[in-house]
Amino acid sequence: MSQVIPYGKQEITNEDIAAVTAALKGDYLTQGPLVAEFEKAFADFSGAKYAVAVTNATAALHLCALALKVQPGQKVLCTPNTFVASSNSILYCGGDVEFIDIDPDTYCLDLDLLEKKLSSSPAGTYSGVVAVDFAGYPVDFHRLHQVAKKHNLWIIEDACHAPGAEFQDSYSRWQRTGNGDFANFAVYSFHPVKHIATGEGGMIVTNSKELYEKVRILRTHGITKNPDEMSRNDGGWYMEMQTLGFNYRLPDILCALGLSQLKRIGTNLSRRRELANRYAQNLQGISGLKTPFAPASVKHSYHLYIVQTEKRLELYNYLKTKNILCQVHYIPVYQQPYYQQRYGKMSLPQMEKYYSQALSLPMYHSMTNAEQDRVVAEIRGFFGA
Ligand SMILES: *Cc1c(COP(=O)(O)O)cnc(C)c1O
Repeated sequence: MSQVIPYGKQEITNEDIAAVTAALKGDYLTQGPLVAEFEKAFADFSGAKYAVAVTNATAALHLCALALKVQPGQKVLCTPNTFVASSNSILYCGGDVEFIDIDPDTYCLDLDLLEKKLSSSPAGTYSGVVAVDFAGYPVDFHRLHQVAKKHNLWIIEDACHAPGAEFQDSYSRWQRTGNGDFANFAVYSFHPVKHIATGEGGMIVTNSKELYEKVRILRTHGITKNPDEMSRNDGGWYMEMQTLGFNYRLPDILCALGLSQLKRIGTNLSRRRELANRYAQNLQGISGLKTPFAPASVKHSYHLYIVQTEKRLELYNYLKTKNILCQVHYIPVYQQPYYQQRYGKMSLPQMEKYYSQALSLPMYHSMTNAEQDRVVAEIRGFFGA
């Protein structure tokens, strides 16, 4: 039987293993010097001033929502085309979520609909917006920032799919996801299918010193050991719990892996873009199959490579028999039973049309041309093209 080709997977090199081994031989297993080193390197990569490493992106989203003071009675706008963690973070804090339909080209939150919604609602109805750079397509955060400012909303950018993605702002300047200029926070995940992997792992970036300090203390039980921040000082052992926080710390061992992986993120991104170009060329001309929208005004980071076809279920099942394991991203969040019980049934037409036809083909930077050619050949075989 032919080798299994998954939709995504991590790549661990000997260099990664050596980095983790060195950390294991060091003095720290949990909070050592590699945490700050990884944070500094990631802040430099994204272009934001501050970064805070946490256990995973779900914890990252939770801390962002807490730091932005989400609380019962507050409403936050969100895209339905995402992993449930994006909106769950608001619910963790007692807030409520309203979903806005997606743009049929980019599959991200539709900014026209968002603007319409905000202009037709009384001031203060919504306190923030969670937007996702879906599949690696960067949202126009310059525009979103202007809209949010006008309506007094904060922004969380869920950039889990999109490290290194860039868009051109209205002055044609390239802007990178999570650069700190537009969203109050951006978050990233280091889950094995994402661009860099630490097993569990996540990062929060921001340009605000105040927000940075808030998430940093919330990450570790709300406790500070910094004498400058304490109300008194009984001696060297003394520390203070100043707010109700969590243990969301990312261990030194995993930061060692993250640092090592981050060194390759540029080459990995180039490879993903190259694979996307090869797919686009080699799948071209198959009637009934639509490849992703990728205008020259964006640098997509291709966490996922999503095609659309009315024969999605048949194609998914057919490829599975050939050991090519595709996936579907995402089931509309509002269709999840928990959300339906909480908010009742709803329907967003673009999201549903997208969901009925979307299929994520295998996409990972260690994929070989031969593996990709096998995927393409099977798809062509399926369509008889
Ligand atoms: C992966 C992912 C998350 C959650 O990341 P974890 O690190 O697994 O908690 C959140 N949002 C999006 C869009 C994701 O893809």
